[in-house]
Amino acid sequence: MDEIGPSRKTVTEAPRPTQVCRETEVLVVGGGPAGVAAAVAAARNGADTTLIERYNHLGGMATGGLVILLPHMSAGTAEQEVAGICEEMVDRLDAIGGARHPSRSLLGSADAATINRLKHYHDFVVGGRVRMSVLVDPELLKCVLNDMIEEAGVKLYLHSWGSRAIADGKHVEGAIFESKSGRQAILSKMTIDATGDGDILASAGAEFEGAVDHTLRSGMLAVVFRLGDVDYLRYSTFRHSEPESYRKVMAEIQAAAGFRMLPVATHRDDQVWVNNWVPGNDCLNVEHLTAAEVNVRKAMRKAHAILRASMPGFEKSYILDTASQVGTRGSRRLAGEYTVTAEDLRVGTVFEDTIAAIPRFEENVSSKSPNRCIPYRALVPRAMERLLVAGRCFSSDIIANDLLNLIPFCVQMGEAAGTAAALSLRERVPARAVNRQALQRRLLAQGGWLPGEVMQALSAASAPASAPKEVAR
Ligand SMILES: Cc1cc2nc3c(=O)[nH]c(=O)nc-3n(C[C@H](O)[C@H](O)[C@H](O)COP(=O)(O)OP(=O)(O)OC[C@H]3O[C@@H](n4cnc5c(N)ncnc54)[C@H](O)[C@@H]3O)c2cc1C
Repeated sequence: MDEIGPSRKTVTEAPRPTQVCRETEVLVVGGGPAGVAAAVAAARNGADTTLIERYNHLGGMATGGLVILLPHMSAGTAEQEVAGICEEMVDRLDAIGGARHPSRSLLGSADAATINRLKHYHDFVVGGRVRMSVLVDPELLKCVLNDMIEEAGVKLYLHSWGSRAIADGKHVEGAIFESKSGRQAILSKMTIDATGDGDILASAGAEFEGAVDHTLRSGMLAVVFRLGDVDYLRYSTFRHSEPESYRKVMAEIQAAAGFRMLPVATHRDDQVWVNNWVPGNDCLNVEHLTAAEVNVRKAMRKAHAILRASMPGFEKSYILDTASQVGTRGSRRLAGEYTVTAEDLRVGTVFEDTIAAIPRFEENVSSKSPNRCIPYRALVPRAMERLLVAGRCFSSDIIANDLLNLIPFCVQMGEAAGTAAALSLRERVPARAVNRQALQRRLLAQGGWLPGEVMQALSAASAPASAPKEVAR
């Protein structure tokens, strides 16, 4: 060794056979919100399905990342736009005391006493109306997701890092993964990249966009932590009643930490999770990931000392835990058959192949402020067969990705991708040729919700007379 430190040398590994440990119909890589939904949907629709996840648990950011707020599942009316598998996750958590959210009978309410009670909890109230936003217990969510995967009959490999696609430049035929059992391969008829970072699509050679805007939330890393023995309602009351004093403490924390932090409600009034935004980092760079892990923990101790000293409600608090997964918000985005743009979000484009409708965050739904939509084509690569994506690597420009990559919407994309993968195998057609209305009908049958324009097109298509094909706003 004649150099110590960073090096530009390369090594060439000897070719060697890799053991195929399983052949499957649908392979999902990444067990976060999108990947779990994709695997459950594919298996429930009859496909032999395998899921590989690099860590010891399912749920991605929503569990290991301690990002424990599933916001904006409704848009300020009594209807719930995000339903299907996402709603099932919440129902299962409810049954074991693992979630807090407004009662469904209150959705859309503007009753003053109700609003006054719920305004303390993030995104339970938007524009003076009650919304379905859910605070989850991350440990119980891990258990719920295990149950859903097991009951659907998905073959699960944890501790399994998907290292590259098996692909010939035109088709994906599975993936290679590394684990304590060594380097192994899984062959598949359809592969769904739900790694968040698009690891599989990139190694397959599918086109993608990699640029990140470091001024947006999706361009920032985080290490979320939780504080225990907090009096959350005292803190929140202070925040609402003395905004200037509250801002002063938060500014002190930002100055000490070097970046913004925000205590957020949890499913219990004696805990908070602390969101944070570390700028100037790239979630595909291992040195940046390492620095974030180390630096946020340093900053956490400074922030916690200030909270204990100066923020009502935190006097007795202690550091409960830190996230086992570094918080990654945005990275590679598929260049798909359709790229969702900021303009689509502004005007509220309803696509003929809409698979998910997403409430606006800033205001309640109305004819002037329609839901935002994601088309199936945003999950389909332009020129790679037997591959779909689900979750935050969907085909979108930076702004659209920044706004739409929240957990409930990633679950919706996962459910659509898994259902489509199973339909493509059943119909013996490429994923890009799956009948869009058959897919939408399946999503509805699974408890999903689609915008009125799509529902009209579906009912017109089932009527004997021919119907207009485009549904655009
Ligand atoms: C700090 C922070 C705060 C946020 N706040 C909110 C919020 O309040 N509400 C909200 O809804 N959203 C929030 N988001 C965004 C949201 O958490 C993510 O966009 C969402 O979780 C993406 O879901 P996903 O399934 O696409 O990816 P992820 O949640 O990232 O899941 C990807 C999964 O794939 C696994 N994986 C990755 N690579 C591989 C590989 N090569 N092989 C095997 N497995 C792999 C990962 O371990 C993980 O389990 C926040 C994000 C961060 C980081």
